[in-house]
Amino acid sequence: MGVLANWAEAAACLFFPHHCAGCGTDRLDRQTEICLRCLHQLPQTHFTGHADNPVEKIFWGRTQVQAATSLFFYSQDSIMQALLHELKYRGNQELGIQLGSLLGTVLKNNSRFAVDVLVPVPLYPSKEKSRGFNQATLICQGIAAVTGLPVCTTLLRRNAERSTQTKKDRAERWENMRGIFEATPFNEVPYKNILLIDDVITTGATLEACGQAILEAEERKLWIASVCYSNR
Ligand SMILES: [Zn+2]
Repeated sequence: MGVLANWAEAAACLFFPHHCAGCGTDRLDRQTEICLRCLHQLPQTHFTGHADNPVEKIFWGRTQVQAATSLFFYSQDSIMQALLHELKYRGNQELGIQLGSLLGTVLKNNSRFAVDVLVPVPLYPSKEKSRGFNQATLICQGIAAVTGLPVCTTLLRRNAERSTQTKKDRAERWENMRGIFEATPFNEVPYKNILLIDDVITTGATLEACGQAILEAEERKLWIASVCYSNR
């Protein structure tokens, strides 16, 4: 039986080679999408336990956030960029769940993140349909597997795409962002302490717009976390 199982596994590897999403090596366990070498090279921020960290500062004066964090630094031509590309454009959904579980391990038992529910930043419905998944939802599923927190995809909606933003000035763009996201009323989805999840935080504009919609219900409080932080 053992021999047969090994043979079957070897045959599966032959026909469906399993490669690290970071460096492409085939020397990795079947249960993981990232080899140990890449995993150890990922640049951790160590922000999670620290108030006033750079991710929290993004939202100062913009939206009321209880705490915010990102797990890794993002930079061009890095392993992290390769991983995000693999997730978003090559459809490696297992990788999204694994990155989520890494984030979940850090969030778990951290007293600054005492939340009730995980809410993914929604994609435009047309984009989610063509991609086949929302990477932020996969990240939530990975966090949920580690923390036991529920994932709620009905709390926040992204309305259909509006006219192009390219020719608008900053104020007009912001006006255009308003109303893109809509939150379900509190009495329909009565979660109070909401952890909003995205893959990358850069300017924070999308998360800010999501946060504004969520905080329209005064019963709700907002936390933010992402896999990566890009400070470009
Ligand atoms: Zn690797």
